[in-house]
Amino acid sequence: MSGAGDMNSLVEKVRSAGVVGAGGAGFPSYVKIQASADVLIANGAECEPLLFKDQTIIQRFSTELLQGMALLMDQVGASRGVLAVKEKHQDSIAHIEPLLPANIELKLMPNVYPAGDEYELVYEVTGNRIPAGGLPKDIGVLVQNVETLVNIARAAEGQPVTRTMVTVHGEVEHPFTAWLPIGMRFGDVISLAGGITCDDPVVIDGGAMMGQVVDDQDASISAVSSGLLVLPRASNLVRRRSETEQEYKRIGKSGCDQCTLCTEMCPRYLLGYPIQPHLVMRSLLTTGEVSETLSVHAQACCECNICSLWACPEQLNPRDICVSTKRDLKANDLWLTPEQLQGQTREVHSMREYRGVPSQRLARKLGLAKYDSKTAYWKEVDTVPSRVIIPLHQRMGQHPEPVVSNGDAVVEGAVIAAPAGEGMGVPIHASISGIVTLIDGFIEIDAG
Ligand code: SF4
Ligand code: SF4
Repeated sequence: MSGAGDMNSLVEKVRSAGVVGAGGAGFPSYVKIQASADVLIANGAECEPLLFKDQTIIQRFSTELLQGMALLMDQVGASRGVLAVKEKHQDSIAHIEPLLPANIELKLMPNVYPAGDEYELVYEVTGNRIPAGGLPKDIGVLVQNVETLVNIARAAEGQPVTRTMVTVHGEVEHPFTAWLPIGMRFGDVISLAGGITCDDPVVIDGGAMMGQVVDDQDASISAVSSGLLVLPRASNLVRRRSETEQEYKRIGKSGCDQCTLCTEMCPRYLLGYPIQPHLVMRSLLTTGEVSETLSVHAQACCECNICSLWACPEQLNPRDICVSTKRDLKANDLWLTPEQLQGQTREVHSMREYRGVPSQRLARKLGLAKYDSKTAYWKEVDTVPSRVIIPLHQRMGQHPEPVVSNGDAVVEGAVIAAPAGEGMGVPIHASISGIVTLIDGFIEIDAG
């Protein structure tokens, strides 16, 4: 295994290409691949309704995906490779199965949400649980999203990350999935889908369950963008995803009847982790020590939104209450150590396998079934946008500092920002060639 100091090592190539986890918070991949692991899991168990980017990677970019897996297995010393795909994606399975080498197997995941969650995936593949508050590497597993693996294969060839695979769906004429330049504005992306088909639209960036409602077509896609879902502002889903903290706390305080359904359907609770959202809801009615005792039941929340958007009969928002409670636990020094959290972990719930949330029924409940008839198939996009706005704070770790100035000419792939110090972080590259026109927490490039 070689480290980041060796310029020819995979670790250094992955760092300098700016590869970050494409399926999550943008954690720099070069750090993650320095640990050793027995098992590499390629995560293609796409979960968010209507998104099709992981399936596009598996069906269209399988050569690079398998190259990435082989490189990483060699890097971390893994003898077992697993590609996880949902059973329903028969096209992906039929394409990839004959191409798999002997040391990589296919894991068919149930058609439930959130099968692609790292904790779910590791348990399904290995039969072991990640320790509460821990990471897959704690039990000798490395999980990488399939897009990240393609980016790793490309990094090994010296190709930096300048594009991200995105699905555009919902109220658009022609849903599609494509590699798009990082920094492309939502409005430009959506116009590639033939335009919007509803009045007063908003965009959910990242998927219906875990994405963010964005009301700004000038916002731009980042290295971790996975999908843009265009929906009417008046839809129930957008209304529920747009509640302010004041609103969801006020409604939650008066509306929760402590039925416990949010806890009984919580996937992390069913895996035995110490999370009980109904107790966190109860904390809204209490103060002081009692409230603190109840609040800690939020810490293991993965923010999947099952409790709010599937379980709660009162349409309350235990998920967002868990999110704000986690923020407050950290701020008030009440955050438990992984050991304390692990000490509260129980056996896997005996009903777990019967409580998965079927993907199709979830889409219906979210009001998305009507879009399901159109699949967002891959589209080759070779048009270059006239302008990109590349966010500087799109990845975890040290924020990169611009290394270009206003008026500089840059070519696609050139480094435009880099971490200033020795801490964890990766550079950012120009996604199109052009002139730098503005630097302000982002770098704007005009194609000219
Ligand atoms: S499901 Fe809704 S009403 Fe029931 S305990 Fe949870 S938040 Fe309260
Ligand atoms: S969002 Fe709700 S269902 Fe999901 S892990 Fe958190 S508490 Fe559990």
